[in-house]
Amino acid sequence: MNLDYRTITVELHQGVAILRLNNPPVNQLSSGLVMEIRNALRSAFEDEGVNAIILTGTGKNFTGGADITEIQQVKERAPLFNAVMENNQFLNSIEKGPKPVIVAMNGNCMGGGLEIAMASHYRIAAKGIQIGQPEVKVGLIPGAGGTQRLPRLVGLPDALKIILTGEPISSEEGLEKGCLDEVVPPESLLERSLEVAQQFISGKLNHKERMTRLRKDKLPNFITKKMVISYAKEEAEKKGRGYIAPFKAIEAMERGLSENFEEDLKIEAQLFCDCALSDIAKNLIGIFLNTRAAGRLPRIQGVEPKKIKTVAMLGGGTMGSGITHLLLTHPFETILWDINEEAIEKGLSAIRKTFDYPIKKGKMTSSQLEQTLQDHLKTTTSLEDLAGVDLVIEAVLEDMGIKQGIWKRLQEICRPEVIFATNTSALSITEMASVLKNPERMIGLHFFNPAERMQLLEIICGKKTSDETLSTSVAFARAIRKVPVVVNDGPGFYVSRQLGALMGESTFMVGEGVSPATIEEAVLDFGLPMGPATLGDLTGLDINYHVAKYFERSLGQRWKMSPIYELIYQTGCYGRKTGAGWYDYREEKPFPNPKVEEVIKNYLKANGIKPKKVSYKEIMDRMLARAINEAAYIIEDGVCDRPQDMDLAVVYGIGFPPYRGGILRYADAWGIRNVYEQLLKLEEEHGVRFKPASLLKEMAEAGRTFYGRIISCVIRDF
Ligand code: NAD
Repeated sequence: MNLDYRTITVELHQGVAILRLNNPPVNQLSSGLVMEIRNALRSAFEDEGVNAIILTGTGKNFTGGADITEIQQVKERAPLFNAVMENNQFLNSIEKGPKPVIVAMNGNCMGGGLEIAMASHYRIAAKGIQIGQPEVKVGLIPGAGGTQRLPRLVGLPDALKIILTGEPISSEEGLEKGCLDEVVPPESLLERSLEVAQQFISGKLNHKERMTRLRKDKLPNFITKKMVISYAKEEAEKKGRGYIAPFKAIEAMERGLSENFEEDLKIEAQLFCDCALSDIAKNLIGIFLNTRAAGRLPRIQGVEPKKIKTVAMLGGGTMGSGITHLLLTHPFETILWDINEEAIEKGLSAIRKTFDYPIKKGKMTSSQLEQTLQDHLKTTTSLEDLAGVDLVIEAVLEDMGIKQGIWKRLQEICRPEVIFATNTSALSITEMASVLKNPERMIGLHFFNPAERMQLLEIICGKKTSDETLSTSVAFARAIRKVPVVVNDGPGFYVSRQLGALMGESTFMVGEGVSPATIEEAVLDFGLPMGPATLGDLTGLDINYHVAKYFERSLGQRWKMSPIYELIYQTGCYGRKTGAGWYDYREEKPFPNPKVEEVIKNYLKANGIKPKKVSYKEIMDRMLARAINEAAYIIEDGVCDRPQDMDLAVVYGIGFPPYRGGILRYADAWGIRNVYEQLLKLEEEHGVRFKPASLLKEMAEAGRTFYGRIISCVIRDF
């Protein structure tokens, strides 16, 4: 047989052809690799000296699945459908082929890789690997027979669970559920696969009898199928609003799993095309790819990050405890500093509390936690003890004087190359660094609350932050498994300013007679996790008030606070922490706070405003127009310059629905001219708050989009 391939190596061993996928880094099933697998299999089928075939991989993966960048570019249905069916023919040619094919999973086996394995005749996996059908996570469904073969191997309920969550399962679980035939230690994988191959050759195993399509023993009867599918639909309705892939996957199994396997594959292929051609899939794929590329900025290309081993955490409060959790789990040697022993004790108990969830979930035990604290965490009230650390993260009171005072002392104690990172929510990084002899070592690492769970890390460069400091900070973000989004210094940096513009419009609408409840509903209906009132009560209305005042001072008239917000602030109801804010939390279920209702009623009466009914669309158009406009100002101000990173920040930082792609992706889909015209209309009605940014005007006139505009990557130039 032909032995010469670019992405596969072939070895012959006693009548067995061993085909090894070798397409680094993750053996992605690019069209090139798939073509070579096809050719190599055909060649092995035709070679009389080959009696069985083993398909395995190199490195950590058997295969990471299909190359989704190829899917992102597809625009037309017919060629896509044909390509999907052609791929099905290829898998059918394995399943119904003349020789046994054994898949030996040396490493993780995802998506299309698992579909190849399920079309093969025997599946052996190395212990400890993971397998899965993660397609729904990028808005797709398995499109190479996965929805038809998986239920035949594991039964419908488990197949639904695996496909609808997209979460991988361990090889051990795969064996237990029936998806795999054997799990063996990695070092005996090949040897055992060769033994199985000989069993096929000797006739002890018969590949014709092992075709997955023939399996019916795990398929449910008509009534059970109906019940299982209807339950799956109900669950998907609850969790999958706004998405289509879960519903299409259910439909594939509902309409499929019949006597006519070929027809079922066609149904699956059509449903796959519905997903692949949708904006939802394109947005989710965009988020997935941009997440992988986050932090890879031209500015720091080739700038070697410094090694970080020991980190000092200043402050063990709300943020400090969450960040310490991250440091201990990833794992860094950590020194927690706080003002006195009492604060340290409080910090330690807060840190322990952040581990309640993993302990409850059985991911670690209390004694393992105590061991980790003993081995990797030191505490001190003396800054002198921080002389040996590689990075300092500060999360003390939000007070410029206090923070600068600490940094001034630390620069006399720490080595000059040690990075000073502040978790300030809003203070200027440039100003904070101005007290340092070498301000290039300072950077903002803005974690979100709860720090141990929120995926975003907003990294803020001050005017003098060096490339080395940035490069190390990005590498550190990756080490603690955060999504790094790099921005420049400016009021509220990116995320808080963007969130303020989006949610801030709600109080103006309340002041015009729109009911706060309708606004909450509209925002939830759009897909955001919380409405402005619920979010405000959680953050604290006093904190939001001070942030809004700060924006008013630093960003001018466009940010003038709504009069009704002033009045609500004066009630002293600051949200959950005071027992009431927009809502009253004294009973089990929150209800609208009568004090706030009274304020609104009196305000409307005094100003002769009648309550008014508006549609969800009207509410969202207005909130989003203002948010998009602010994003354009933010770009103009030099705070951000990469739409793809800005969108990651809103998805991971404020829960903007990922299937909508982010605020700027949404703006492009809406049409920049439409946004601009909407803003002009709103400006006429409501004044300067909606004054379009010149960038938006230019884009509307030139017919450009945020994603289409040339991205200058000048993230350091203000
Ligand atoms: P916190 O009140 O929970 O903790 C404050 C910490 O500062 C405590 O460890 C306390 O002992 C210490 N401290 C008190 N007085 C001090 C002093 N005089 N000198 C030095 N340290 C002192 O506050 P937090 O919510 O953890 O916020 C800490 C920082 O993180 C602030 O800069 C805040 O703006 C920022 N931040 C907070 C959030 C949030 O949601 N809480 C989110 C992002 C960023």
